[in-house]
Amino acid sequence: MTARDVKEIFDRGLFRGEIRFEEPMSAHTSLKTGGPVEIMVFPEDPLSLKNVLSACERENIPSFVLGAGTNLLAGDTGTGGVAISLREFRSIEPTRDEGVLFVGAGTPLAMLLGFAQRNGYAGLEALAGIPGSAGGAVYMNAGSFGTEMKDVVVSVSVMNRHGDIEILDRDRIGFSYRSSNLPEGSVILSVNIALRRDDPEAIRQRTGEFLKKKRAAQPLGESSAGCVFKNPPGDSAGRLIDAAGCKGMRAGGAEVSRVHANFFINTGNAVPGFHGAHADRKGKGQGAQRHRARAGDKDSGSQ
Ligand SMILES: Cc1cc2nc3c(=O)[nH]c(=O)nc-3n(C[C@H](O)[C@H](O)[C@H](O)COP(=O)(O)OP(=O)(O)OC[C@H]3O[C@@H](n4cnc5c(N)ncnc54)[C@H](O)[C@@H]3O)c2cc1C
Repeated sequence: MTARDVKEIFDRGLFRGEIRFEEPMSAHTSLKTGGPVEIMVFPEDPLSLKNVLSACERENIPSFVLGAGTNLLAGDTGTGGVAISLREFRSIEPTRDEGVLFVGAGTPLAMLLGFAQRNGYAGLEALAGIPGSAGGAVYMNAGSFGTEMKDVVVSVSVMNRHGDIEILDRDRIGFSYRSSNLPEGSVILSVNIALRRDDPEAIRQRTGEFLKKKRAAQPLGESSAGCVFKNPPGDSAGRLIDAAGCKGMRAGGAEVSRVHANFFINTGNAVPGFHGAHADRKGKGQGAQRHRARAGDKDSGSQ
């Protein structure tokens, strides 16, 4: 999509929301790395999203979806194409089905946990401390302390690259360890999750306990993208990296966390080349490279 295409979409009243050009990805990733993306859009409604996706499809322009950027490694040389942020798709509503909440994809997970706690919906407590959006959490099948998104998801509403919306039941999402297998190009618009009713105070206490454990084991206040490597069967990547003596190891501004060896920290001027990942201005669909790895559910606080 070129600036001309964007202008046309605006002029014809086909897009509601914000559009930015040459927007630094570093402002949208928890690692605080990443050069400018050519175009970043923040559609306010499904129709605007559809019009952007259709324009990208028609013009053969790469696009990628940006959640809260807490699991993204964006190339430092800049990214071609269009980044689509769903931050405006933010809502939490109880449905007619007892215990089932409708959650917009751009809703921060922390906001969802807060809502659930205040209103007596139990089941998400173990996810406390995981940053990111509801859409990103579904896409990554985020989890910790033995609970994963797949345990609560009933269905998701997705838009395909032609702008058609489909409801996919949990069984069609293809959840596995820190990943999902949605149809290629699907944009998650919302998710329905099933929780059980419980006393808000009991939920608050459980959430607090999980958060305390996590804060003790993970460098939550630092700039990172969470765990980098997946746990191998029967072991923890963090333990292995620690045993190899890598805690505190540095390359430029990137450091292997001294708190949790599977967290790589940006101490200020880290560049993604350190991880061997690189986004290419010309590369299609390579806009922001996804962390391939997520770690498992260990009481040590590993993901
Ligand atoms: C300090 C810290 C702690 C963490 N702890 C944990 C943990 O305990 N457990 C864990 O599992 N993870 C953890 N993470 C990793 C991360 O928070 C999760 O993977 C989170 O679910 C990513 O959500 P996001 O919205 O930030 O997604 P992003 O990073 O923005 O995107 C991740 C992927 O999801 C895709 N995506 C995002 N939204 C959508 C959508 N609406 N439709 C289609 N695709 C979409 C993106 O294209 C991208 O491929 C941690 C990260 C940090 C920084």
